[in-house]
Amino acid sequence: MSDRPDPLAWIDDKLRTLDARGLLRRPTVRESSQGPEIVVDGRRLVNFGSNDYLNLAADPRLAAAARTALDEGGWGAGASPLVTGRSKWHARLEERLAEFNRAEAALVFSSGFAANSATIAALVGAGDAVFSDERNHASIIDGCRLSRADAIVYRHADAAHLDELLATHRSNGKRLIVTDTVFSMDGDAAPLVDIAATARRRGAMLMFDEAHATGVFGASGRGLAEALGVCDAVDVHVGTLSKALGCAGGFVTGSRRLIDWLYNRARAYVFSTAPPDALCAAACAALDVVRDEPERRVELLAKAERLRTALTAQGWDTGRSSTQIVPIVVGEATTTIALAERLRKRGLFVPGIRPPTVPLGQSLLRVSLTAGHTDEHAARLVAALGDLRAEYASRV
Ligand SMILES: *Cc1c(COP(=O)(O)O)cnc(C)c1O
Repeated sequence: MSDRPDPLAWIDDKLRTLDARGLLRRPTVRESSQGPEIVVDGRRLVNFGSNDYLNLAADPRLAAAARTALDEGGWGAGASPLVTGRSKWHARLEERLAEFNRAEAALVFSSGFAANSATIAALVGAGDAVFSDERNHASIIDGCRLSRADAIVYRHADAAHLDELLATHRSNGKRLIVTDTVFSMDGDAAPLVDIAATARRRGAMLMFDEAHATGVFGASGRGLAEALGVCDAVDVHVGTLSKALGCAGGFVTGSRRLIDWLYNRARAYVFSTAPPDALCAAACAALDVVRDEPERRVELLAKAERLRTALTAQGWDTGRSSTQIVPIVVGEATTTIALAERLRKRGLFVPGIRPPTVPLGQSLLRVSLTAGHTDEHAARLVAALGDLRAEYASRV
């Protein structure tokens, strides 16, 4: 082309550095539908690397619901929701979600990421303060940055620290507390009861991100707030359609006034094309399954408990997991990746999680279980990890 030096040449150095540190990720291609067994690069693997917790992503009932909407109305929404993008399918899904969470109203976003970041930025701004768990999801961190409110980070799952920070923070602005309910990499649960008490005592707005708990926890599958009996304390309830519900998208439920405000001011909602009608139809079908088949979530959590017991008995550190996400804490990124590679050779896909997703020195294998895993799948994983344990323990 020309002799002009390539202004993007710096990227080569950056990529090489990532590679040398065991942090470079390369695109992978799944060649089968999502599920407990997948085909990647031509190989069939038992899949412990999805968030398809209720095994709904490839469920024919969701596909059938999507097809009905597709046949009726076609694919694209064609506009942002405030113009002409919001159809009766969006309205129907929002009604269902409000009913699901026993809230006055709901709003559907194109992704959970958009729901979190846009909602935080719509609720607080310069001069306000947002109190955020140090392990919160990237979409929450970005929402805090986007909002330009003071971001005040409290120690992971430490409600006493949160309370102390709220007590000492001087500001006349609004105050928002935000936390994941189930943490995505460690599979541990936030102390929602204590956090709710603090929010009430300090008069702060309270936002829960139930991304990994929607459809999994609670008697009716609403999430961890339901399981712990603190739904009434939550002002802003975020959930995803993309994980246990097997679809894509995120949602917020809450009071009518909250949803009216987000409808007008959540920028990722206002300035983004509405998701397809078919997606909303599939999500409604997923909510039917959550309502009608509670055994999926009950058995999933029992399965996770059995897996933790087996792995701990082998000497692995599963952290503070109490959910369907079972981490195996390894430490070094390179060792983690080597272990993931060995598992893969045995036909088991378990993602190695490295910085920046987790802090340096805290790399882990993230086993996520779904309603689709059989006892035999779990037994194969336990057997492989048992063999690797002997080797690994002799090296460290
Ligand atoms: C995955 C995730 C999100 C984002 O949801 P998407 O629908 O995948 O964009 C938000 N919060 C948490 C805690 C998550 O794990």
